[in-house]
Amino acid sequence: MTDISEILKSQKFLEINSEIRNGVKKCKETCDFFSICGGGYISNKLAEHGSFDVTERLTCKLRIKESGNILLDYLESEYIKNMKR
Ligand code: SF4
Repeated sequence: MTDISEILKSQKFLEINSEIRNGVKKCKETCDFFSICGGGYISNKLAEHGSFDVTERLTCKLRIKESGNILLDYLESEYIKNMKR
């Protein structure tokens, strides 16, 4: 059995860690939804693009952006309603 400390020091782990960090950094620099997402869904990055060093995926559109837009629309409409009172 491999010790976790050996895994954490392995070249493969360091490469994956770097790739993930690069992808999250790109998300932070380019995505308006980063504050509610944090660049997550790491496994979907790999599944959809074969790399962790990417940003938007179908998962983003369906789970984060659509629900975020619906929430923002709702909050805006509630805010406008309250302003008219
Ligand atoms: S929604 Fe997608 S592109 Fe935007 S921060 Fe999250 S993972 Fe990155």
